[in-house]
Amino acid sequence: MDRAYAGDERWGWCCPRCDRDVIVSDDPASETFRWECPTEGCRAVGFGFRSRRRARIALREYRERYRNVYR
Ligand SMILES: [Zn+2]
Repeated sequence: MDRAYAGDERWGWCCPRCDRDVIVSDDPASETFRWECPTEGCRAVGFGFRSRRRARIALREYRERYRNVYR
């Protein structure tokens, strides 16, 4: 149904906007994970996720939203 799932690892940590690998980090203070794009001028970011898996899911949803807007 969803092609994104087929390539699970490949779509994993690419920026939804520029397709560069994003930086994933955890914040021990709040016990959450965040991802952010290192590209100047892109700066896509997501944060406040309780696990790496949730961060990844959110990243995929971000990608889908982005594609829906710019298709
Ligand atoms: Zn980016």
